[in-house]
Amino acid sequence: MTHHKKPSQIGIFGDGQLALMLAESFTLKNLPFLALLQSDNSPLERTFPQAVTRDSARFVDECDVFTLENEFLKKDELLQILGAKSTQLFPAIDSYHHFADKISQRNLFQNLGLPSPKWMAVLSHTDLKNVTSRFSYPLIAKASSGGYDGKGVRVIKNEIELQSASEAFGYPLLVEEKVSLKTEVAQGFVRTKTGDMSFLPLVETLQQDGICHLVQYPANVSEKVMTAVQNALTRLADYPLVGIFNFEFFVDENDHVTINEGAPRPHNSQHLTIDASSVSQFDLVALALSQLPLPKVTTTPSIMVNILGQTTGKDVPLILPELPSSVKVTPKLYGKEKCAPGRKMGHVNLVDEDGTHDLKSLGEKILREYRL
Ligand code: ADP
Repeated sequence: MTHHKKPSQIGIFGDGQLALMLAESFTLKNLPFLALLQSDNSPLERTFPQAVTRDSARFVDECDVFTLENEFLKKDELLQILGAKSTQLFPAIDSYHHFADKISQRNLFQNLGLPSPKWMAVLSHTDLKNVTSRFSYPLIAKASSGGYDGKGVRVIKNEIELQSASEAFGYPLLVEEKVSLKTEVAQGFVRTKTGDMSFLPLVETLQQDGICHLVQYPANVSEKVMTAVQNALTRLADYPLVGIFNFEFFVDENDHVTINEGAPRPHNSQHLTIDASSVSQFDLVALALSQLPLPKVTTTPSIMVNILGQTTGKDVPLILPELPSSVKVTPKLYGKEKCAPGRKMGHVNLVDEDGTHDLKSLGEKILREYRL
């Protein structure tokens, strides 16, 4: 018998689009929630004004389980806010803390024997001088924390650029080899304290300038790549990690797979599960928080197009090109107050229910022709 205990109220740390989509999933499942706001006038606050607070004491008092949508808070801050209820956080706080920054993640991967691109933690100006004894240009420099969508990532071609990246990002700085990429893939899982788990689909992520533009299922990769990813995920799950986790992997020209990074939360690369899968990544969190069994996720061929803003303004309408009526097209705008060039404003999912379309070409057509 399963001991299903419906939470009286779920606490969500954060109010970005991932929190919004969690809130939408909880609403459909009649699960009450309260979000702890981190910004002003967020889409979540405007969509669910009765279910938000800025008062962390009230938040902790009124909720009995908690989840989150970003890594802004450090482990110690979460412990301080949650107090005795910190055992009720999903992801488990000890799993979460490995993902607070890119360098701790690399340490975890290394300790678990998972291949990453060759890397080095640069902690000071002195370390910076040793970089060239271990790496040749071009190399990659990354802010260890605070970066997203390629904003904390630079390709470095010489010492001057390395110096300027260290000034822009500060220390610790993650320096790594530049992988000759054939493609990139992502996959994740949800795992509960009791070891119940479910895998999200293996997807291919197509990037431009360090930003993911298209996500495709199934990933067009060899059996060797799929096995390498599956082995890495199994190793991470068995560690054990408790929560929802999504991981990004590099695939080089020899189909050698290295793990780049992970996130202890729902992830942009899995938004196609909302329209193409038997259960979405957000629904899986809802099920885990309700202590219900996690079902196997089945997914229909699909593609997700990230919609980045092109103009500056309010209430800018999304214009999509004409697409075949036999493809299920689901645009989703996140309701952000202002549109700005490069800002992630929403996504469009395309699901090929009859399996006859070249979804990648349709995704590329949307990318070329959409207006926002
Ligand atoms: P962010 O956390 O900002 O998304 P990532 O580490 O995922 O940063 O890097 C963003 C993108 O930059 C990657 O998806 C990849 O396309 C490119 N990139 C990052 N690191 C490397 C690397 N070591 N070699 C080649 N390309 C890289």
